[in-house]
Amino acid sequence: MKEYGFGADLGGTTCKLGLFKTDGTLLEKWEIPTDTSDDGANILKDIAAAVHSKMVEKSLTKEMVEGLGIGVPGPVGKDGVVNRAVNLGWGVKPVAQELGDLVGLKVRVANDANIAALGESWMGSGKGFDSVIMVTLGTGIGGGIVIDGQILSGAHGAAGEIGHLTVNEQELEACGCGRFGCLEQYASATGIARYARKTLANNEEPSRLREIAPEELTAKDIFDVAKEGDRIANEVVENVCRLLASALAKICVVVDPEAVLIGGGVSKAGQILLDAIVEPFQGMAFHACKDTKILLASLGNDAGDRKSTRQNSSHIR
Ligand code: ZN
Repeated sequence: MKEYGFGADLGGTTCKLGLFKTDGTLLEKWEIPTDTSDDGANILKDIAAAVHSKMVEKSLTKEMVEGLGIGVPGPVGKDGVVNRAVNLGWGVKPVAQELGDLVGLKVRVANDANIAALGESWMGSGKGFDSVIMVTLGTGIGGGIVIDGQILSGAHGAAGEIGHLTVNEQELEACGCGRFGCLEQYASATGIARYARKTLANNEEPSRLREIAPEELTAKDIFDVAKEGDRIANEVVENVCRLLASALAKICVVVDPEAVLIGGGVSKAGQILLDAIVEPFQGMAFHACKDTKILLASLGNDAGDRKSTRQNSSHIR
């Protein structure tokens, strides 16, 4: 194996880039803006240019670089074709081929949440486990499944889309995916804030959450206030975490991983979040899955970058 690799974690606002040793050591990270104008036509060109200038700066030749791994926020087929990434303006885009032509390196593409799962299982809190599920609680909910050390991407690139499991068939508001009652509508950062606004509107009980304008309420506020003992905030935390735990119990009986890793911005709430998930999970899980470890992810925003590099050594199923 060659000594260096590049990783890219492509988001709707910025693209985080990393230069790594192929053992996973991060040497340098930086980011460039994501240019979503013109249906995202410049995104891959910009990434290729950024990688080229880093290679010049570090005197790296193509012979020294194993390849470039990139995580993309959308379903990715085995052929490296992205099937609609709404936040980037892309429709169906053959990213592996186009970026490979531009950068002149071997390119591997995968869904960003899947790559985060692989990164965590390689270098993060999933280290030592062969099979993990990762759930990323951010603006939305991402999910990734790693089995026997390999990403499970599925026939349509949709495996692990945990955020779109239906958890409430009575929901009247539509999810971003167009369906109703998805987990993402409850347990993502935006979902938790939405749930809190509804709870406050249907209830006259005093709560410190009422000191914050409803439209400014964030998931962080809710966890912070819950930690101070506020009853309404704790009710919100319990209810959204029970929905998440129920979804995890169902996934675990199908996939049976060694561990479930919880990442994304919401996971910064820490122990209170973990406690609110673990207890109902153990009550709902199939008896053989009750001891599945539920852990906080440990790589934060670097998870995607790290795991991209590993993709270069063809770990994607
Ligand atoms: Zn949905």
